[in-house]
Amino acid sequence: MAEEPSAPSGPDLVEGVAAADLPDGAQLLGHVEGKPVLLVRHGADVFAVGAECSHYGGPLAQGLVVGETIRCPWHHACFDLRTGEALRAPALSSIPCWQVEESDGRIRVGAKKPLPRREPPKGAEPPERIVIVGGGAAGFAAAQRLRSAGYQGSLTMLSGDDAPPVDRPNLSKDFLAGTAPEAWLPLRSTGFYAKNGIDLRLGTEAAALDTGAREVRLADGSALPYDRLLLATGAEPVRLPIPGADLPHVHTLRSLSDCRAIVARAETARRAVVIGASFIGLEVAAALRARKLEIGVVAPDRRPMERILGPEMGDFIRSLHEEKGVAFHLEDRPAAIDESGVTLESGGSLPADLVVVGVGVRPRLALAETAGLAIDRGLLVDAFLETSAPGVFAAGDIARWPDARTGDPIRVEHWAVALRQGHTAALNMLGAGVRHADVPFFWSRHYDLRISYVGHAEAWDEIALDGDIAARDCALRFRRDGRTLAIATVRRDRESLEAEAAMEREIGA
Ligand SMILES: Cc1cc2nc3c(=O)[nH]c(=O)nc-3n(C[C@H](O)[C@H](O)[C@H](O)COP(=O)(O)OP(=O)(O)OC[C@H]3O[C@@H](n4cnc5c(N)ncnc54)[C@H](O)[C@@H]3O)c2cc1C
Repeated sequence: MAEEPSAPSGPDLVEGVAAADLPDGAQLLGHVEGKPVLLVRHGADVFAVGAECSHYGGPLAQGLVVGETIRCPWHHACFDLRTGEALRAPALSSIPCWQVEESDGRIRVGAKKPLPRREPPKGAEPPERIVIVGGGAAGFAAAQRLRSAGYQGSLTMLSGDDAPPVDRPNLSKDFLAGTAPEAWLPLRSTGFYAKNGIDLRLGTEAAALDTGAREVRLADGSALPYDRLLLATGAEPVRLPIPGADLPHVHTLRSLSDCRAIVARAETARRAVVIGASFIGLEVAAALRARKLEIGVVAPDRRPMERILGPEMGDFIRSLHEEKGVAFHLEDRPAAIDESGVTLESGGSLPADLVVVGVGVRPRLALAETAGLAIDRGLLVDAFLETSAPGVFAAGDIARWPDARTGDPIRVEHWAVALRQGHTAALNMLGAGVRHADVPFFWSRHYDLRISYVGHAEAWDEIALDGDIAARDCALRFRRDGRTLAIATVRRDRESLEAEAAMEREIGA
């Protein structure tokens, strides 16, 4: 029997609500034509926007209003309350937005508002030709923002991948676990690129860069001229220098084709060894457990994820995976791999018909090196994401930029950061001159546990724990010299959003 659709909660906002029910700063969840809509009062204005985040459907009613923006509790997307526009990734689409009338002591929602048209930033002459190298998060976000900002010149996007840009974080989560169809993965349909005049060239490697001639040389020997260039080549998985690391059942995970290969193997495999106990490795372990494989995790660390989340969270994550049947072989390394399994340095061996290596990534810098760009454990950019070569910008996993809070040059490997940097770089290629001042954010998911992390802490002298990690209700503040550099939370989404807003105020000040 088909399920009855659940009734939308709250009042029908077309009929209206008493104005007194919505004091300044308050939010009220109701519905319009059966869809959830959120009313927000901010000073003299009342806004009505769709109540679901356009990224993964997060409940905006549980989010945070900051000025005329609303932020999603799940992955910190940010929307303009006045227009519904997605101001900040990971949302890449707007949310619907309605006219609101307030009269006779009642607030009523009226017609849906159209999205405002954007013009390119005033002042600078727009470049004729923009080339983006990279078909991942940063490259996609830049292309999309260039067009939504009104850029009408030539736009070429080169990608070494054989698929259009995909939701890469899903490759170690639902898609790998077999609980999401492949149709969910593309960031946009293939028609989007042609419709928006984006010349997306898949399976096309840029081989060299000549910043004097302003040309990208392709692997086939042809040259592509540019006026502005974005390098968004991301990072590539580190491979293990041990015997057997190139056997067909040994995989790394970065692209959709990597993921498809793991899924194909997992369909017949019974036992997998995951090498590496950080985010990718453990998310892969969780996803493969959902496919009922026996999983052993091998890593040199004392605790999983300790380097990023500290010892207590590391112990908790270990116990969480153990409860699900994952066996850890920590403080050990693989010495060799053969068809039947993995031999450990400690002398033991683990049978495996699938091996996934998740031991970190290296920024893809080869192209930048051909042009002699300034490099320091990443491609160095200024606060506007411009490299040492004028007109050449970089964003995402390859870029090392000055952190707006600390001034330290940092490089991070997070989805939302790469998308947001793609947006900033797009505007700056059009001459907007905007600083990249966003606070880094990432999330990681293991089974039904989601960890959110805002800020950036490579080293700390104190972790202040509030709450109870085992009860899955906690906030960990990573501090150095008394200053909170980052905060990791479990089931405290509002606190995470508030911490992010506080860090933004610090930057603004
Ligand atoms: C499996 C997986 C799960 C993840 N999960 C999370 C998560 O839960 N949360 C989170 O915050 N982050 C997550 N990340 C990290 C996040 O996906 C990356 O930080 C993000 O994709 C970086 O974006 P990017 O554009 O810099 O690089 P990428 O998305 O890797 O894109 C790089 C692009 O450049 C292309 N390229 C490289 N060299 C060349 C060349 N010479 N010529 C042409 N094209 C080239 C590649 O083919 C690719 O298209 C995950 C990553 C992976 C792999």
